[in-house]
Amino acid sequence: MVEESFCKKAGLLGRLRVKETTNDGARDSEFGGPVTPTRRYAVTPTRPPKAQTPLRLVAAECKNVASSVLQMKSDYVATIGLEVHVQLKTKSKMFCGCAVQYGSEPNMHVCPVCLGLPGALPVMNLEALKMTALTGLILKCDIAPVCKFDRKNYFYPDMPKNYQISQYDLPLCRNGETPLSDLAYPKDAQKSIQNPGKKVRLVRIHLEEDVAKSFHFESATGIDFNRAGTPLMEIVTQPDIESPEEAFAFLTSLKQALIYGGVSDADMEKGQLRCDCNVSVRRKLETELGTKIEIKNLNSISGVRRALAFEIDRQIQVLEGGGKLQQETRRWDDDLGETLLMRTKESAHDYRYFPDPDLLPVRTERFLEEVRNRLPELPWEKRERFLAEYGLSDYDAAVLADNQELSAYFEIAAKGARKPKTIANYVLNDLLSALAASGKTIAECPIPAAQLDQLATMVDEGKISSKQAKEVFAEMFATGKPAATIVEERGLKQESDPDAIVSLCSEVIAANPKSVEAYKAGKAAAINFLKGQVMKLSKGKANPNVVSEVLAKLLQ
Ligand SMILES: [Zn+2]
Repeated sequence: MVEESFCKKAGLLGRLRVKETTNDGARDSEFGGPVTPTRRYAVTPTRPPKAQTPLRLVAAECKNVASSVLQMKSDYVATIGLEVHVQLKTKSKMFCGCAVQYGSEPNMHVCPVCLGLPGALPVMNLEALKMTALTGLILKCDIAPVCKFDRKNYFYPDMPKNYQISQYDLPLCRNGETPLSDLAYPKDAQKSIQNPGKKVRLVRIHLEEDVAKSFHFESATGIDFNRAGTPLMEIVTQPDIESPEEAFAFLTSLKQALIYGGVSDADMEKGQLRCDCNVSVRRKLETELGTKIEIKNLNSISGVRRALAFEIDRQIQVLEGGGKLQQETRRWDDDLGETLLMRTKESAHDYRYFPDPDLLPVRTERFLEEVRNRLPELPWEKRERFLAEYGLSDYDAAVLADNQELSAYFEIAAKGARKPKTIANYVLNDLLSALAASGKTIAECPIPAAQLDQLATMVDEGKISSKQAKEVFAEMFATGKPAATIVEERGLKQESDPDAIVSLCSEVIAANPKSVEAYKAGKAAAINFLKGQVMKLSKGKANPNVVSEVLAKLLQ
């Protein structure tokens, strides 16, 4: 009896079944890769039964219920903690030399270690340890002087050695925090941020190996081991988050910090950043936390927001209906817009962690100094510097600092510029909309940063009008030609010479005696008509400021 339950817990029964099936010499034509021991017991996901059907509304009822939900909502507070998995951008895997590469043919980057074959020995990837420590420094964590790796025992087809190498009681980083910047909130929520300047505290960051990826076909499941063994950080927050919008802001800020640190591309579509949420609700006056429910494997930041909003409403409705919540794991179905029950607490795992005998504990002091030198300037630091150094507005500084590539582009363009503010305007308005319209990224921008300064200088010095500059900008973006060449080719130079403008103005005054009379009789607006005539006569080349001055003088 004891033996049987031990076997079950340790996944040993599963291991026996693996042995039975490994000698299958057939190839899975659908999958094309080597035969994996798991194809016999394909796990085809079936939709779990709905435990608590959420309130479904017909359109006519929506309005009333929406307002009552709002009322109910205001009586409750939500408590949210996140567990975020981040793939590191190392060249090779965590415990072997296989390449970390996304999008290759299945099972191209595998070896006995990452396939979990018996007897294969892991060798630590030092760069992964450094990147995790760097993440810890960026997020103000305490870096452990000594960390170690443990075996987390469980059975699942995507982890054939029946344990995952992870960190249990001695993780690489503890504590720390992530500040939520205003711009990290969803756009529609930026005007009503509940806790501006909030920082979400972290519990820990540990390092582990990613598992393989399952592909479910009609009658079989294929396993791609390219992902198996990719260095994976797990970042665990304190339950500090109080709304779906704060969760959104946390993930956006975290992603930004990871990209700034160069430790991960954090592309959620590629599974480089994945998130589990723990969420509970309680009445405002109660001090005891509500029943915690976990939502697994969310793969977009907006999905996290939607899933949490749905789940918070669902939990409130269950409680308001006199029901009781039980501790359980759910998953988010983005098409249905609902969370669905996966399993209840009874099936919770006992992972029986123990130190991995193949890996020695690691002293971090050996590489910590080097990692400290790699600390980048962080978005929130850059924002402050942009305010001080370039005299930008709060908003402009924040938007630029928000994006590492965009801010680098701006800094090259603004270097030595007379008015960095003009450069910021071009980058944030003209350039961003041109990029968006053409579907290009800043890295593919056809205008070299230094050329943008040339254009801004021409406007600042009055050589071309800002209207002409728009034309020039569009052509620069389309052709990549320097501003000066385009101005030359199009004969666009703005006329600022007062003598030339005096003759234009005199001509217009002579041709429009009625307007001149009206102006002299006190109708101040009449001068605008005359100004327009001068601009027309100059084919838009006259400097409008000089025209105004000259006209005013001549009409005195
Ligand atoms: Zn390998």
